[in-house]
Amino acid sequence: MNIIQYIIRFLLQGNDELANAVGYTSNPDQYSRYRVVIRPSGFFESESYGKKSSIPALPLKKIDNTEISFGNDRVEQKGSTVFVEADIVASSFFFLSRYEEFVRDDCFDQHNRFEGKKSLQFKAGFINRPIVDEYGILLRKWLRKAGMEVKEPNTECSKVYLTHDVDVLETYRHFRGFWGGVCRGNFRNVINSLSSITKDCAFTFDWLINQDLKIKDAEKLFFIKASKGGREFDYPQYNLFGKDFRFLLNLIKKNNCKTGLHTSYYSYDAPYIVEDELDRLSNATNQKISCNRTHFLRILPPNLPQTYTKSRITDDFSVGFADIAGFRLGTSRAVNWINPQTFEIEPVILHPLTLMDVSLSNKNYMNLPCNEAFTVAKNIIHQTKKHNGELVLLWHNTSIAANSNSYHQNLYSQIIDFMRDGL
Ligand SMILES: [Zn+2]
Repeated sequence: MNIIQYIIRFLLQGNDELANAVGYTSNPDQYSRYRVVIRPSGFFESESYGKKSSIPALPLKKIDNTEISFGNDRVEQKGSTVFVEADIVASSFFFLSRYEEFVRDDCFDQHNRFEGKKSLQFKAGFINRPIVDEYGILLRKWLRKAGMEVKEPNTECSKVYLTHDVDVLETYRHFRGFWGGVCRGNFRNVINSLSSITKDCAFTFDWLINQDLKIKDAEKLFFIKASKGGREFDYPQYNLFGKDFRFLLNLIKKNNCKTGLHTSYYSYDAPYIVEDELDRLSNATNQKISCNRTHFLRILPPNLPQTYTKSRITDDFSVGFADIAGFRLGTSRAVNWINPQTFEIEPVILHPLTLMDVSLSNKNYMNLPCNEAFTVAKNIIHQTKKHNGELVLLWHNTSIAANSNSYHQNLYSQIIDFMRDGL
């Protein structure tokens, strides 16, 4: 399947019959084969392809209140064929392939992460809407206009992933943590922690699991670090064969939660490390590990998928902006990694991460009070349901630690209750 066919099929929720009725061509000899003809805007053939000058200027044109990156809003019907000049194929490709992250070099933070607040979807005002899923609505409408029977997808989440990155297993039960606690005078917390892992203030996994279990059909995923050394941003490392981690692993297994790899910060610069980490975690858990999330959401650029495709990773959950909640891939639905340099459809499924605890609360990110964060979360859930998308949440055990304020504890339980009542 080529990339054009893949995108049309994606917009039509995998329906081949409908996808075959849509052409992407400006060749009149081919028009009679299709019920909807999308006339290409020239984006793919342009000399500026791959250059910053190909990023569309603001304001974007709109069709039915949906912004399009390429083409214009002209729609005309001739007989039973509908011709459109809104290039929703190139517009979808732009977001699904993270094209902007491929061509721009001026939007990355100190951790090499593309900043959400510099993205087109933020600047154009639709970071909180899955724009590609709206292109699907447009395409289905045009097919209906051409006389085809087309159903809308269910308005419920197709899948919910409740995920937790285990950056820190405990606070005071390792050497540096212990002395740090003593020096800061946190004697009670240190003594509690030493008496039992369950009394360590970072060990809030049982609380998280109890919340997660309220959403019966959700998949619960814990991303585990497995790098050899834990320097700087990967510190502290925990011993995958030590009794504290085994205790957590038992808790995870007992509650039918799954484990994925939390690839280290430094694997970004030395991608061969990913396979070592995958082996280490697979050996320690005695499980085949195929899900991944990068530490700090430090996903490699879209033209460098090899690190993940050459390892056994089949599913990645890293593609969300750290600094803002919303739809980095322009969709709420799982999509293959698309390489904007080669146009290859890579064998890694990207599950869009749309809601992360610290994006909402951190001062240098969204800095929202709890009630406003809940409003943002409700909108993401609403948008995801509307398009039959996947909801991927990330809450850290440390965000709800006993010594932090109750912001994330309240927020997470509110979101879980909202989902339980409304899914
Ligand atoms: Zn992490």
